[in-house]
Amino acid sequence: MATPLFQALPGTRDLLPPETDRMRSLVSIFADEASQAGFGQVTPPIFEDIQVFVRIGEATDVVSKELYSFEDKGGRQIALRPEQTASICRVYAERRPITPWKAWYYGPNFRQEKPQKGRYRQFDQVGAEVIGSHDPDVDVELIAMASRFYTRLGLTDVSLLINSLGDKADRPRYLEALVNHFERDIDALSEQSRHTLSLNPLRVLDSKRPQDAELVAAAPVLADYLSHEASAAFDRVTTGLDALGVSYTVAPRLVRGLDYYTRTTFEFAADSLDAAQNAVGGGGRYDGLVADLGGPEDPGVGFALGVERTLLACDAEGVFAAPERGIDVWVVCTAESPAALVLVDELRQAGFRADRAFDGRSMKAQMKAANRSNAPVAVIVGDDEMASGSVSIRPMQGQGEQAAVRRDQMISTIAELLGAKE
Ligand code: AMP
Repeated sequence: MATPLFQALPGTRDLLPPETDRMRSLVSIFADEASQAGFGQVTPPIFEDIQVFVRIGEATDVVSKELYSFEDKGGRQIALRPEQTASICRVYAERRPITPWKAWYYGPNFRQEKPQKGRYRQFDQVGAEVIGSHDPDVDVELIAMASRFYTRLGLTDVSLLINSLGDKADRPRYLEALVNHFERDIDALSEQSRHTLSLNPLRVLDSKRPQDAELVAAAPVLADYLSHEASAAFDRVTTGLDALGVSYTVAPRLVRGLDYYTRTTFEFAADSLDAAQNAVGGGGRYDGLVADLGGPEDPGVGFALGVERTLLACDAEGVFAAPERGIDVWVVCTAESPAALVLVDELRQAGFRADRAFDGRSMKAQMKAANRSNAPVAVIVGDDEMASGSVSIRPMQGQGEQAAVRRDQMISTIAELLGAKE
């Protein structure tokens, strides 16, 4: 094949069947879980005032390096959303719905990352946020919902890591200890981490560079610096997870890529994927974010799950295959137009998945297409059938002979044949 004139840009993908069917089915399972738990779907716009996202944290890669931003024709500074929590908080601050507000979402996000397997510049997330409650039961409810979602997809190899990042007031003492720890051995730290240390010391803990591993493993942990309240809240979360039978590992050095987290933070890792791309989802509390976006001092907690990564984990575990999306009935029609149009329409209105060939193909070519479609039943109509007001119905997979039936019995005969097959 000649090189096409245009190709999808790096880090973007065209989704075609059966992947699109699989995606839809994944979202519908998520929607089902979320609506059972009292969440309503919220769909914010794909682009916002850039400041909405700058609030995520100017020192994070997501904002400082990866944001797709531009000036629109009205002179506004705009960015494509890199995630949806900030947008959901902006919606909340703007509309002030009744609390606790439970919102779930689905849709694409954009980050100018280095593309690789499981890391794209446009990727989808499903997620859920609860705004307006401090109750750690809400954290547990959310974690349990995400975990049930993975289970419903058939995934068994996903582990949950949790940690508490404490309250903002707990941070300064901890950050001081953390900076002292890294500065004591600054020469052993990678150059990137030295840079991160000057901007955002917590994120050094997120370094996956082998050179940093030893220092990161020996770093002080936030758990030793938590206020009584934050510590009690974290106990409630673990007790709740235990009560619901959700297994987890406390990961005292877990920090996440976004700066707004306080108290509970968590990540789901697919053990079937390479360590660099094994985060299939994550979330936590962000008790100051709504206020940062100009709203009230209301707390929030939520998570986002990467759809593509989750599907990669499904592939790795050999679960959640694309749903079958076959055709029920193939119409082979050599009678004059619009006979085929009417037949197919009648079948579709009766609830069958029906299709046909176009472009005036011969009977032979149409039969070939019928075979290729894998439809269990073909309806065949030529001039003879038209003249006698009948159709020929042919079971395509060896359940009986072709038979002519009256046109008004077409639907019931096919229903019977397809019923017998199931
Ligand atoms: P985050 O919004 O960074 O907390 O990410 C939540 C989840 O989204 C991650 O655990 C990944 O599964 C997924 N994700 C984040 N960035 C990307 C990306 N560039 N490509 C594909 N999935 C991503």
